Amino acid sequence: MLECPMPRTNSSIASNIERIRERMARAAARSDRRPEEVVLVAASKTQPAEAIREAYEGGVRAFGENRVQEWEGKQPALVDLKPSWHLIGHLQSNKARRASRLFDWIDSVSDAALALKLDDAAGETNEWLAVLIEVQLDPAETKSGVSQTGLPALAEAIVQMPHLQLRGLMTIPPFCEDPRDVRPYFRRLRRLRDDLEKHLGRSFPELSMGMSHDFEIAIEEGATQVRIGTAIFGERKAE
Ligand SMILES: *Cc1c(COP(=O)(O)O)cnc(C)c1O
Repeated sequence: MLECPMPRTNSSIASNIERIRERMARAAARSDRRPEEVVLVAASKTQPAEAIREAYEGGVRAFGENRVQEWEGKQPALVDLKPSWHLIGHLQSNKARRASRLFDWIDSVSDAALALKLDDAAGETNEWLAVLIEVQLDPAETKSGVSQTGLPALAEAIVQMPHLQLRGLMTIPPFCEDPRDVRPYFRRLRRLRDDLEKHLGRSFPELSMGMSHDFEIAIEEGATQVRIGTAIFGERKAE
């Protein structure tokens, strides 16, 4: 019998991803970068497991979840997928152990006590965790992250921790109606990273910055990971 699969209709998630990839590639080209230098992290908070699977089938290989508990609910339905799983939301230190087992990356490390807990937990299974430090660039506008002045000491502490690999920085800039107004924040995160590399004599290649409405600007300013939710999955219902 001949195999006769149903023609695959282009789901809206798959076509959204395709459009985003094109925009990412154009933004990379504008700044003389290759498209492969930027990873699309699908921000999948509030999305059901089926939507995550659809995005995976559309080629996404990194996902960012905001809450440990929400992810524990969805994860059993997705164990056959092998992307990298990122925690991009604020992490309470009493959930550090669970988070270290559920995620490959913790993108929102903002203090040394939390980092120590993650290091301990990763050490218990002889593993290591990739981490980013979340930097708060505008204390009046955003609530989470380490201050710019606190950043060097936190980075110094984390690079001493045997089970954490500090890969770079992450930020959530204030929301600006015109995404071009966000550019100085992205540029500042890159400079902070450059300063840290000089200060510690190591490389921290990752800059996680840019969301649905400003990812092109972020890529022009050096983002290596963009976290995109709405533009892939559509508007979220209330969180
Ligand atoms: C929700 C979320 C995003 C994605 O936001 P969109 O505007 O939907 O693209 C990115 N980063 C973090 C930390 C988020 O919580």
